[in-house]
Amino acid sequence: MDAVAGSDGIGVLDLQGGVQEHLDHLRRVGVAARPIKRAADLAGLAGLIIPGGESTCLSRLLNIFGLDTAIRQAHGKGLKLWGTCAGAILLARENVGETPFLGLIDVAVNRNAFGSQLDSFNREALAPTVAREPIPLTFIRAPKIVRAGEEVRVLLRLDDYIAAAEDDRILVTVFHPELTPSLAFHRYFARKCGLNVAGDDAGLDPDWTPLSWTRFSLHV
Ligand code: GLN
Repeated sequence: MDAVAGSDGIGVLDLQGGVQEHLDHLRRVGVAARPIKRAADLAGLAGLIIPGGESTCLSRLLNIFGLDTAIRQAHGKGLKLWGTCAGAILLARENVGETPFLGLIDVAVNRNAFGSQLDSFNREALAPTVAREPIPLTFIRAPKIVRAGEEVRVLLRLDDYIAAAEDDRILVTVFHPELTPSLAFHRYFARKCGLNVAGDDAGLDPDWTPLSWTRFSLHV
């Protein structure tokens, strides 16, 4: 299905981290998608995904290329944002024990709260606002969202933390939907951006194959 006329679709910040997997998922849900490397690339986008990776590295590159200011400005003019994992850390207003970076959504995150890279894991959960079926979730050295402000809606709460949340213009997830066959969160974000997409189930893509070395086995 095509993006709504007049919109360039959704961009994926292409400085470091899981870029290609997000672009692939956006194309699978039928949304125009392109990598974003510089401020000028933001023009015409309805939404921008800040992918997972390493938040300190990403913050430095954002700063070097002036993209932090450009993203803030574009967001002020209506650009919707979705941060996955490191992206969520960069968007959070509060970062426990550290200085926040973009600070655009009123949540507090606690980096590396599950432990080291070896403590990465898969699980499944139902996020009723996002899909009717349980969604597979991949956590890679993830943060926990430990507080959500009044304007923020919790989309998925697990154990002692929030795994997904949103306000009117920003989505944050501490897991990686782009590393699973589920298209549900990409559809959800595309709709949040005002784009036209079909489907409201877990959106498991039957043709998805774990080609990337970053993709975990879904056998937990
Ligand atoms: N632990 C990383 C950080 O602090 C985030 C990991 C990820 O994005 N998968 O930036």
